[in-house]
Amino acid sequence: MNKRDYYEVLGVSQSASQDEIKKAYRSLARKLHPDVNKDDPSAAEKFKEVSEAYEVLSDPEKRAQYDRFGHQDPMQGAGFGGAGFQGDFGGFSDIFDMFFGGGGRSRGPQRGADLEYTLAIDFKDAAFGLTKEIEIPRTETCPVCSGSGAKPGTKVETCPTCHGSGMQEFITNTPLGRMVNRRTCPTCQGTGKRITTPCTECRGSGTVRRRRKIEVKIPPGVDTGTRLRINGAGEAGDQGAPPGDLYIVIRVNKHDFFSRDGNDVYCEIPITFVQAALGDEITVPTLYGRETLRIPEGTQTGTVFQLRGKGMPRLGNGVSRGDQRVRVVVQTPSRLTERQKELFRELSREFGEEAHEQSRSFFDRVKSALRGD
Ligand SMILES: [Zn+2]
Ligand SMILES: [Zn+2]
Repeated sequence: MNKRDYYEVLGVSQSASQDEIKKAYRSLARKLHPDVNKDDPSAAEKFKEVSEAYEVLSDPEKRAQYDRFGHQDPMQGAGFGGAGFQGDFGGFSDIFDMFFGGGGRSRGPQRGADLEYTLAIDFKDAAFGLTKEIEIPRTETCPVCSGSGAKPGTKVETCPTCHGSGMQEFITNTPLGRMVNRRTCPTCQGTGKRITTPCTECRGSGTVRRRRKIEVKIPPGVDTGTRLRINGAGEAGDQGAPPGDLYIVIRVNKHDFFSRDGNDVYCEIPITFVQAALGDEITVPTLYGRETLRIPEGTQTGTVFQLRGKGMPRLGNGVSRGDQRVRVVVQTPSRLTERQKELFRELSREFGEEAHEQSRSFFDRVKSALRGD
């Protein structure tokens, strides 16, 4: 059996915190849950794999065992997990209740959900940073009732079903014994309150949908995949709970001339045959203006020169930068005039035996390499 590494399955590092593991699982489970992937038969398999990985990594004891023994845990015999995930998956919300405390513990006011926004920026903006206004649709606390859901000035009563606890107990008899299951009260959705007159603005929900303009400050040095967090700019939470966060995910547009490798900037510059042979000074564009680069006599095509400190700023550092690497490409002249051709022939005669010797010994080396000696 070829099992994938649990950390790999969840896409987290070995040093990931419990919080990161939970977050990774949550977003994967959302994507892969069979209820939302009825058309993809492999989703159920993947979901099972992800759930199994989460079951182990979310439990500090099991995780420690897994870190030591991998899938071959001697204590477990057949390896981890599996058992709880063989049967029906149950509803979408059941799964979340099971993992995130809805079923067992008191629910309490929930923090708002995090939002994610992908922002495409230009190469130069990634180097210098920028401030940009974006517009995001999100759920906000209702400004009329301040999130209570009740029309201002009206009475809020205690929920008659749960008497204000927000929870309801169910007792079931199973082959394993009597199980007491506590669930969020269905009448009040866990708030413990009953609204007599709902707020007209939000119809009692306590939240409203808004398109909100937000100014985002992008620091110099970001790259594709950089995630910036704006605290509290996500969806509104339940009354009394904080809002979620907004994550800005950066995508840097391709540049015609520059490319990037970590914090280094890379470019290619064509030079002539003559410049390569005799040496020259050339002008190279950088992110910070033009630079002069000295090409030494006898430069070969493909030679890479370094312009120190002309690369991308290191994110969060602000002072140090990567380098710019300039690869020169020697252009072989084509469409020569008769006069130019004659000059090349003369040059060739001038090189004479020396040049022919050089290329002969090179081809001899190629031949012996092919023969394997
Ligand atoms: Zn309201
Ligand atoms: Zn209730």
